[in-house]
Amino acid sequence: MSSYRYVNFLWNDAEAAALDPVGRLVYRSNLLGSDQRITNTGGGNTSSKLTEKDPLTGQPIEVLWVKGSGGDLRTSKRENFSSLYQDKLLGLQQVYAARSDKGLKSQAEDDMVGMYAHTTFNLNPRASSIDTPLHSFLPGKHVDHMHPNAIIAIAASANCEKLTQEIFGGEMAYVPWMRPGFELGLAMQDIAKKNPSVKAIMMGQHGFISWDDDDKTCYTRTLDFIEKAAAYIETKYAEKGGDKTAFGGQKYQTLPEGDRRAMFAAILPWLRGQVSQQKRFIGTVQDDEKILRFVNSKDAARLAELGTSCPDHFLRTKIKPLYVDWNPAKEDLGALKSKLHAGLEQYRKDYADYYSRCKRPNSPAMRDPNPTVILIPGLGMIAWGKDKSESRVTAEFYNCAVEVMRGAEAIDRYIALPQQEAFDIEYWLLEEAKLKRMPAEKELARQVVVVVGAGSGIGKETAHRLVKEGAHIVCVDLNTEAANATAKEITDKYGLGIGVAGTGLSSCGPALGLAANITDRVSVRAMLDQVALAYGGFDSICVTAGIFVPSDTTGHIPDEKWAQTFAINVTGSYIVGDEAAKTWREQGLRGNLVLTTSANAVVAKKGSVAYDTSKAAANHLVRELAIELAPLVRVNGVAPATVVQGSAMFPRERVIGSLAKYNIAYTEDEATESLVRKLAQFYADRTLTKAPITPADQAEAYFLLVSARLSKTTGQVVTVDGGLHEAFLR
Ligand SMILES: [Zn+2]
Repeated sequence: MSSYRYVNFLWNDAEAAALDPVGRLVYRSNLLGSDQRITNTGGGNTSSKLTEKDPLTGQPIEVLWVKGSGGDLRTSKRENFSSLYQDKLLGLQQVYAARSDKGLKSQAEDDMVGMYAHTTFNLNPRASSIDTPLHSFLPGKHVDHMHPNAIIAIAASANCEKLTQEIFGGEMAYVPWMRPGFELGLAMQDIAKKNPSVKAIMMGQHGFISWDDDDKTCYTRTLDFIEKAAAYIETKYAEKGGDKTAFGGQKYQTLPEGDRRAMFAAILPWLRGQVSQQKRFIGTVQDDEKILRFVNSKDAARLAELGTSCPDHFLRTKIKPLYVDWNPAKEDLGALKSKLHAGLEQYRKDYADYYSRCKRPNSPAMRDPNPTVILIPGLGMIAWGKDKSESRVTAEFYNCAVEVMRGAEAIDRYIALPQQEAFDIEYWLLEEAKLKRMPAEKELARQVVVVVGAGSGIGKETAHRLVKEGAHIVCVDLNTEAANATAKEITDKYGLGIGVAGTGLSSCGPALGLAANITDRVSVRAMLDQVALAYGGFDSICVTAGIFVPSDTTGHIPDEKWAQTFAINVTGSYIVGDEAAKTWREQGLRGNLVLTTSANAVVAKKGSVAYDTSKAAANHLVRELAIELAPLVRVNGVAPATVVQGSAMFPRERVIGSLAKYNIAYTEDEATESLVRKLAQFYADRTLTKAPITPADQAEAYFLLVSARLSKTTGQVVTVDGGLHEAFLR
């Protein structure tokens, strides 16, 4: 095809020519995966049959390089591909034929998956995909199996076979829905043998597969088929009236953006609490034009109930989403809540019914019955996952499902996978085994922790400490750039996650930077509402923001400095706790609030009257809030002492002032680092443990207090001061 309107043609001959054969396969895979209209995140696979030197004989041998289990095409590297002896894979057909219990979804078929490891070429450790036989048994040297929305729209149409013939003529054959595996590979082999002119196969309710002996032609052919499908759909769609009449036409109006944000912020924490009764979920919001067109439409209720089609999709989106018939123009938040509540109850009941209707004697136990996709007219979509990345993939897949339904309804009638087939994928023992092989979730997985003061010092260190345990971190600071810088350090290290979805803030990764002034209630509320939009809610808050204002040269502290010290060190923590409490009560999930006090809170001394007094008040604030927020939220404090390293509270001048005060030798031109080390050691020598106290020592205490390790501790202050006997609490 000379030009493409519905896919990106990205092949560059010079780039491809510089690569070895496996490199070209990786290149082709990355190009295909980079266009969402060609395949979804994690979906589809590619292969090349290449001649390699057999390490066992030194002779040339044909090896199938095929995308292995897990990973996704966009980001795949060489190590994501398994390599298998092609002749041994073909030989497995005899092993399979000899099994008396063979057949679709039989034990014999599942057992073949374990046999692929026996055909491994050159000790490649990458586990093989269940789609391996599709690639091995088809005749082309290069094979692409994709999940494009335009093709799935045809695959999910009631008259798929007829449409395939009409759109592609004899070039594309048709195979009805079969669960991927050995039988599907054999069926495809059969089709290709009987029809040598066929270049591709439409896979009912699933996607398609195409092949060629030349890799660039294989790539181009894949694009051509998708282009043809998309062009056919868009013509029919336009003939039917286009966007105006999509999904039966519009029933509800989209709320204005400001109202939508406010409504999402108000409903999300409550909704998160409702769906997180067994396990906590992280949310992603999508409210772009495409999703709104669907949720506002007349047919949304009917189509949503049918569920998603492509097996890849519903493993994340569940068999169907929850759609609530709420009228955004006439009904309020209270009405939305009660409709969601009723909808969730019905959904869980439907899910339990689906499970008991479809389960087999050896099926795994029923999984969480809550929806992972929720659709609300006027507002948009909310998707849930075990972490931000997964919730974004879930949202992406429902975006795909909407596109598929739009296409299918434009050319025919959308049909979903039969429920038993859906169940046999969702509760497939091979899928269960895959889940069991996954590493255990980290200690703070599924949690969102807001760290106030994350731009520097203890707050920054705490943010890094908590993300290591799997928490999502909202880095909050008065200084926006500092907040963003800490969030960026985290996302640079851990990545943004996969999945191409989420609107605005909600498209974030495992960390997010936000600005807030904790002395201003409106600013704190706005920040917490943004957290809800980004992640659906939050579990814990650590307030590490604080201020030390030294006395003037006469040893006196001006009234406004006194007021500022209390505003930040006491009132700020109170406002954060008080505003957060509203969200925690809506959410109804256990959480933690950790405030920062100081060893100075219990040791009176000269020159820091405002700071010390404010920290004494903060100690009591911990106790008061512990009583007010019980039993839902534990409130504790961390009392650091003299953390000089990395502390925003110890600028060079203060370090020099302290060195002078304690008669420690230094010179004016000495490097700050050296001055800091001297002062830190001086402080260390005054403690029982004699070692400098670092931000990392403090971060450990925040971690303990937001984890479940001290789950019976509330209203307490943990000192991290190296052992200052005059600061012992009693
Ligand atoms: Zn597939």
